Amino acid sequence: MPRHRRAPQVHKFGGASLADSTAVRRAVEIIQSHRGEPTVVVVSAMAGATDALLAVAQQAGSGDEGAVAALIDHLRSRYAEAAQALLPAGRNRAGMLAHVAEGFEELEELAKDLRRVRELTARTTDYVVARGERLSARLFAAALDVAAAEAKYVDALDVVHTDAAFGQASPDFAKTDRSVQRVLQPLIERGVIPIVPGFIGATPDGETATLGRGGSDLTATLLARALGASRVSLWKDVPGLLTADPRVVPDARVIPQLHAREAAELAYYGAKVLHPRALIPLAGRRIPIFVRPFDDPSSPGTEVSETVEPGRVPVKALTAAAGQALVTVTGNGMLGVPGIAARTFAALHGRQISVSLISQASSEHSICFSVPESFADQARDSLVQEFQGEIARREIDGVEVSRGMATIAVVGLGMHGTPGVAAGVFSALAAGGINVVAIAQGSSELNISVVVSAAEAAEAQRRIHAGFQLSRIAGGSVIRPERMEIVLLGFGQIGRALATLLAKVERPALSLRVAAVIDRSGFIFDPAGISPRRLGTLAAEKRKGRSLAELPKGQRSSSEDAVRYIAGYALTRPVLVDLTADDTAPALEMALTHGMDLVLANKRPLADRRAISEALWQTARAHGRRILHEATVGAGLPIIDTYHKLIESGDRVDSIEGLLSGTLGYVLNEVCAGVSFSQAVRSAMAKGYTEPDPRDDLSGMDVARKALILARLLGYREELRQSSVESLVPQWARTLSLEEFLGRLEELDTVWERRVSAAAAEGAVLRYVALVRPDKIAVGVRAVPASSPLASIKGSDNQLVFTTARYKSNPLVITGPGAGAEVTAAGVLNDILRLAGA
Ligand code: ADP
Ligand code: ASP
Ligand code: MG
Repeated sequence: MPRHRRAPQVHKFGGASLADSTAVRRAVEIIQSHRGEPTVVVVSAMAGATDALLAVAQQAGSGDEGAVAALIDHLRSRYAEAAQALLPAGRNRAGMLAHVAEGFEELEELAKDLRRVRELTARTTDYVVARGERLSARLFAAALDVAAAEAKYVDALDVVHTDAAFGQASPDFAKTDRSVQRVLQPLIERGVIPIVPGFIGATPDGETATLGRGGSDLTATLLARALGASRVSLWKDVPGLLTADPRVVPDARVIPQLHAREAAELAYYGAKVLHPRALIPLAGRRIPIFVRPFDDPSSPGTEVSETVEPGRVPVKALTAAAGQALVTVTGNGMLGVPGIAARTFAALHGRQISVSLISQASSEHSICFSVPESFADQARDSLVQEFQGEIARREIDGVEVSRGMATIAVVGLGMHGTPGVAAGVFSALAAGGINVVAIAQGSSELNISVVVSAAEAAEAQRRIHAGFQLSRIAGGSVIRPERMEIVLLGFGQIGRALATLLAKVERPALSLRVAAVIDRSGFIFDPAGISPRRLGTLAAEKRKGRSLAELPKGQRSSSEDAVRYIAGYALTRPVLVDLTADDTAPALEMALTHGMDLVLANKRPLADRRAISEALWQTARAHGRRILHEATVGAGLPIIDTYHKLIESGDRVDSIEGLLSGTLGYVLNEVCAGVSFSQAVRSAMAKGYTEPDPRDDLSGMDVARKALILARLLGYREELRQSSVESLVPQWARTLSLEEFLGRLEELDTVWERRVSAAAAEGAVLRYVALVRPDKIAVGVRAVPASSPLASIKGSDNQLVFTTARYKSNPLVITGPGAGAEVTAAGVLNDILRLAGA
């Protein structure tokens, strides 16, 4: 009875995923975690093994005996050590060690022969290097067996068929399809996991040929095609397909989704991450490829498929190919003469030289194209020959070759029909003083290539990457952002209220999604967005006291590391929303430097030591980011916004005075209405107006922080401890446990009775008032005349009075609800929408 009829998954492990026994063990664990699903595994050689084997072949061919022996010994011991470490003593281990010994003995023999004949052919080279993959595959099969999964080594020559172009063989799809179905399908149906060496196949004569460097990617897609696989996972040493080569552009980011044509273009133009022909077998099929980080198996990496939308951003990624030469044919006689271009390329084609960039000046005065440097002389010779006549008649001046060039390809389906992409590339390079030698737009219109000198190629890539803001949006300069990803730092009451509000936002030009939630335990991240339903479930779990790290897809981490991880993805317009009450400055710094804007409800970072809060503003300025923090003062009331509007309109704010604590407002209102202090505090607690420990409110620190934030806007340069803050918690009560404190609350009642009646005798009521000026902060209880606006404030409302140059005798007053999760979330949402419209 066949056990599996479902479409299998194909997993490919690259060299880095098989670097040593620890890596192989982890790869085995990845396969085990997919237990129950029909699976096929393709493996590369151990990291560096192919290079070492190639070196063996080359040095043997040139007669260097010592070097060859050393290389072989080193490789042999790497494979043998891995076998020792992975397999328990016994038949399996002995069998594996015998394979290793045999493989390298044969190699030693081959090396001897090569030294004798001193001639190295592509055929022999392929035969030499093929053992790297074969040994890996045997090792992997044995290790999987130890882990109690039924695995079977299947040689690539039994399933992958190619032409006879050794070193660069092309697969024969039809033949491969048939063999794969005949050999692998029955195994899969029996629940066996076939382990196939990548990179190699059988020529029509049954010899071993390689598919070109990086060819095991191609093996994986060939098998996936033949089996109608559900997906292909390529496990690599990078977090996914990035906006650029991370070794060249340090702030390259993971692209969550890429269309197959974009990925193919990148691979073709030199991005080493994918084999250039790996996508061809899957053309027209709905089989997605996932480029996934071996270091972090739970991460989605990059999805490459034909169903990915082009998106609106014109540019998604770039890549470079060094070692190019630019060949230019110039001459006045070319003007209007038909067929010069055709003859040029026919001549090159005749010599099998592949041209990667062609550009013809609109004056038709010149044609230039780039070829790999090693073909430059051949290309020139063939053209000089082709145009002999024209050169003699001086219609063509000649053929020039410039070496030491690099071609940079800028790729994105969205550039089709988007004007100005080439100009953007130019101006990015011009700003860096980098000379563009040639430029061409691919006929596919999903790529613009420029040729620059190889010495400037790295700088050019960084400039273009920055110019199109690829680290932020994986695309070109978006005028109106279509997508904004929210990273919620803190998922308590306000976070939950915000999630509900976000789900209701309807703005045609804007799609808001929550990409991540972070709490003290860790985070949950989905670059495609966490659905409102899932957020609801998460909220429910959180209310039950569970932490994010414990929930499905939760990852344990510090906030700072979570932000770093998330920032590794090329999100369109990431905004970090801090809803905690923690010291989050390090995570916020991390977010700013990685291109996120900030929206804060958390007061602490801005009310921290001046060095810390100033540093945040400075980092934001340096990275062109914004920090909005309306909800830090007066919850949803437009306090900060009003301040900025006044300043923008040329006014000067002299002071801001008012009631900034809903909790203290409520307590003092009650007390002045005749309720005892202890009773007022207890009912504030019952109504949820206080922090869990009411002393956090009664100490006045919360108001002081708000006052400090306002004061710093006005230019206040001191620290919190320099401002005068009256605490309603007497000295003796500060060190008690919460329980003890609540038990002794009544002891405070008499003092308050006295204060209230003293004020009443003067026709005044007590209010907890903050006074903020550029040079002073004073926060404490004041008796205000019953007739003053501050006296009329009810319940937990806030009120702020701005005295400015313009509003001097008649100050500007803002009143409204200043506390509560709902209104705070509304204030936060307002900031988010303001960023979106910016
Ligand atoms: P494998 O282990 O599967 O053979 P490769 O070594 O072939 O993996 O590919 C991964 C390497 O490709 C990375 O180490 C990285 O340096 C390089 N690379 C170049 N361009 C990119 C890009 N745009 N995205 C990701 N990696 C890239
Ligand atoms: N091992 C081969 C190489 O290094 C094939 C591969 O890794 O895909 O090119
Ligand atoms: Mg590779």
